[in-house]
Amino acid sequence: MPMFFIHCPTADRDELISDTRIVRLINRPNDIAVVLACFCGKNHVIRTGRKHLDLVEAHAA
Ligand SMILES: [Zn+2]
Repeated sequence: MPMFFIHCPTADRDELISDTRIVRLINRPNDIAVVLACFCGKNHVIRTGRKHLDLVEAHAA
């Protein structure tokens, strides 16, 4: 199961958040914004690179 290692600004500590806590994904030109429901009760936005996705698309083309 994919996990996201984030730094929680509310608790000021690192948290390991599973993909089941993804609120939504926002595709952007150069990255993907992932909104996660943190254990602190707030939602945090992290960004993940899409190099992997670009590679997959390049092979498919
Ligand atoms: Zn948090």
